[in-house]
Amino acid sequence: MKFNTKTIHGGQENDKAYNAVMPPIYQTSTYAQSTPGGHKGYAYSRTHNPTRHALENAFASIENGHYGLAFGSGLAAIDAVIKLLKAGDEVISTNDLYGGTYRLFTKIFEDFGITFHFIGMENARNIEAYVTEKTKLIWVETPTNPMMNIIDIKAVAAVAKKHNLLLAVDNTFATPYLQQPLDLGADIVMHSATKYIGGHSDLVMGALVVKDQELSKRLYFIQNASGAICGPQDSFLALRGIKTLHVRMQRHCENGKAIAYFLKTHPKVDKVYWPGFEDHPNHQIAKEQMRDFGGMVSFTTKEDSYEEIVKVVEKLKIFTLAESLGGVESLAGHPASMTHASIPKKEREKIGVKDSLIRLSIGIEDIDDLIEDIKQALG
Ligand SMILES: *Cc1c(COP(=O)(O)O)cnc(C)c1O
Repeated sequence: MKFNTKTIHGGQENDKAYNAVMPPIYQTSTYAQSTPGGHKGYAYSRTHNPTRHALENAFASIENGHYGLAFGSGLAAIDAVIKLLKAGDEVISTNDLYGGTYRLFTKIFEDFGITFHFIGMENARNIEAYVTEKTKLIWVETPTNPMMNIIDIKAVAAVAKKHNLLLAVDNTFATPYLQQPLDLGADIVMHSATKYIGGHSDLVMGALVVKDQELSKRLYFIQNASGAICGPQDSFLALRGIKTLHVRMQRHCENGKAIAYFLKTHPKVDKVYWPGFEDHPNHQIAKEQMRDFGGMVSFTTKEDSYEEIVKVVEKLKIFTLAESLGGVESLAGHPASMTHASIPKKEREKIGVKDSLIRLSIGIEDIDDLIEDIKQALG
């Protein structure tokens, strides 16, 4: 089955009760048993729920994995991955990553005795210097948030294999429409399904997908034991979102490209971060591992002043000033004060998150309206 068919049919079977085309929302915590232990595979909804199960099969299908797991948020999914480790273990992570992931690693798991090394991975050879016998996991985000750096998943996977480490890839920005990390050698794919997968800014959810059965059992044990599952209503919404993922992504990419090129020639704009530009440092890798370049574009203005940039984002009319990304509507974010405020200013600026940086999540509105809006806001 090709990707555009998988989004609609992948992992799905018809409803057994009435042949409903969409899986019903099984809004139940428990299931009647005919005799102790006598149930139809579902006993309690933290452990199993038919709507969530249908969604988990869809996750597995679109990421070319064998097992999918759905969580109450992207961070709950990341939390489950780190719980594969124990005190004394070490993780090597991308340094330019989602602020909440950084916060979870440094403010929660470091207290449990896990050590994190945050490094630039644009060159995969940088990783080996940090590998010790305590290293267990490599954590990668690509494209990175918000600087749009590209990391060569295949090259990182080769380092992981060589040292027998797990490789987890946060695929939230790219989505499986653009890249499928398991096929490139990753062991775990993670999503904030809140973003492109849900696609309509109406739910918060996380996902993990793996190929290996043993690994899936360990993660499933953690999911059930820790309990950070998502509910049946949200599972239904995410399933509905997945069905249009490919058409939405196609338009996100088209609009993203148009806006990246528009910004590049604007006199008030300093730098534009978008992996589709030939002068992007890892453009070649982006071309190889991604089908297109996505709908996320970041830029800085020539005047690097907090007051000026606030004026620009406040003037936007179609773009909504908001956290999050990946919905059908265009959003603008100011990473330094919003998504990345939990990263100390010094750390933030080291990776390029200046005060004048704006991150755009390009929606699927008419491109002329979007460009007009940015034009008037930049003045
Ligand atoms: C939003 C996001 C997360 C966290 O997901 P939640 O669903 O908000 O918990 C993790 N990684 C990336 C890249 C994100 O954009």
